[in-house]
Amino acid sequence: MQSKKLKIYNTLSRTKEIFEPISPPNVGMYVCGPTVYGDAHLGHARAAVSFDIVFRYLRFLDYKVRYVRNITDVGHLEADADEGEDKIAKKAKLEQLEPMEVAQQYASSYHRDMELLNTIRPSIEPRATGHIPEQIKLIDEIIANGLAYVVNGSVYFDVLKYNKEEKQYGILSGRVVDELMSGSRELDGQSEKKNPVDFALWKKASPEHLMRWESKWSVGFPGWHLECTAMSSKYLGDKFDIHGGGMDLMFPHHECEIAQSNASHHTDPAKYWMHNNMITINGQKMGKSLGNFITLQQLFHGDHEKLEQAYSPMTVRYFILTAHYRSTLDFSNQALQAAQKGYKKLINGLRITSQLKYEADPEVLVDENNVAQIEKSIAAAFDAMNDDFNTAQAIGHLFNLLKKLTVFIRVNCIQLSWVEMFMIN
Ligand SMILES: [Zn+2]
Repeated sequence: MQSKKLKIYNTLSRTKEIFEPISPPNVGMYVCGPTVYGDAHLGHARAAVSFDIVFRYLRFLDYKVRYVRNITDVGHLEADADEGEDKIAKKAKLEQLEPMEVAQQYASSYHRDMELLNTIRPSIEPRATGHIPEQIKLIDEIIANGLAYVVNGSVYFDVLKYNKEEKQYGILSGRVVDELMSGSRELDGQSEKKNPVDFALWKKASPEHLMRWESKWSVGFPGWHLECTAMSSKYLGDKFDIHGGGMDLMFPHHECEIAQSNASHHTDPAKYWMHNNMITINGQKMGKSLGNFITLQQLFHGDHEKLEQAYSPMTVRYFILTAHYRSTLDFSNQALQAAQKGYKKLINGLRITSQLKYEADPEVLVDENNVAQIEKSIAAAFDAMNDDFNTAQAIGHLFNLLKKLTVFIRVNCIQLSWVEMFMIN
């Protein structure tokens, strides 16, 4: 009954749409995962917790969800560009490790941190390096459709031709190709691309490049955007229900995914595009150069000069859920301390009410008005969740619910199990 009411804000249409899966009760969801070259931070936590809620709520609504979240272990170059060093290879050189050691180390620490945040592991967690043949096949298909070209062993996506023949490039982010062309920092003659808006599907490896594979074009490596198209279509089909990720991935990464899917399979990859907003720190963007880059481990141990104390993983999870996933969320000690109090209050309230359940006396008279108020709070919390997963409002209604429950003795008839998705292990 609840599932009919679920609305999701679709970045593609810029409206809230009623959620209608392509083949119910199955739901396919792909979320862009981490590039594993450093410790996880609040940004990673927000994306993981936001989509954990989506995953849990869809399952609660009895959908059969296949949740795929990739691990990027090759091809993500510095500044998300087509030139420069691979992020993982750079870290490997710095730490004198094999690139795969770097990927393994940070994939493991990512899993540890996400488990502490009580997120459920995805159904499938594919790695880019494990899907090189799939990526090569995809490039073949795009070339066969005339929408990519080979230069000096590298393959580039022909954005202008795609724009003319297939679909509008920029449809998701609202960018216009002409403006992108004039705003490009790449100067004529400096690049082997036909146009600065074109993006790499395959790059020929320079002699010092560590990660490399054989292909008919060159010994090289795939472009960053390609892996998500190759892996999402392999595990979820050419078109699936939900594609998620951080707002910072909307352009160019997701835009390029849409282009790659249309250029190979003549379809958009996903029906609904969901993007979680960013976390700021005391109003500032988080960045290593600003000295406000706090990893989750530092947060959990209070081990950073900006931190007044340690914050438990569940406080961090609760803090993330006190804002709607599409709103910005500002980190400060004050906000975290408030979250710590709120979380304790809610959990203690839940414990008390669950104890009441066992002490309930069937002889006690039920106050009908109180029951109606309790039912109203439950319905309001569901309405909030059905309104594009508005956890902020849902938590507000849970507090109302707890207030009413504490004055109500017979709680046997109240189903609280769904509340658990917010925080209880
Ligand atoms: Zn991706």
